[in-house]
Amino acid sequence: MRVEQPYAENGRPIPRRIPLAAPFFDAAREGRLVLQRCPRDGFFFYPRSRCPVCLGDDWRWEAVSGRGTIYSYTVDRVGLDPAQQSQLPLVIAAVELEEGPRMTTRIVGCAPEAVSVGLPVEARFEDLGRETLIHFTPRPA
Ligand SMILES: [Zn+2]
Repeated sequence: MRVEQPYAENGRPIPRRIPLAAPFFDAAREGRLVLQRCPRDGFFFYPRSRCPVCLGDDWRWEAVSGRGTIYSYTVDRVGLDPAQQSQLPLVIAAVELEEGPRMTTRIVGCAPEAVSVGLPVEARFEDLGRETLIHFTPRPA
């Protein structure tokens, strides 16, 4: 079965919600970043039903700082998705949050040449109507 990918007017693909991740997207809409936190093992990301360390299901959603550093990145200058051609080049990064987990995300608000491993970044929220995306942008050190 083929599932249509929804797009915002600016060409950005809109993520599909799974019920488990609803608090993540609801918080993003309010300009907050929340992650699941296990009482024994701390924060984890991506959203899942059990802690990836102890498999406990007694985690809670908690706010995090939205600050981190670039762990790794790449620059997409080709664009596999035709709808995103107008947005190239895209900087795709793994951002290591101050609280520990790494998020795969986009780096926005700067030229690709300004991005480097270890660069301090902070969350930036982009309202696409149906959902709000979380990107990261450089912040003063
Ligand atoms: Zn745990």
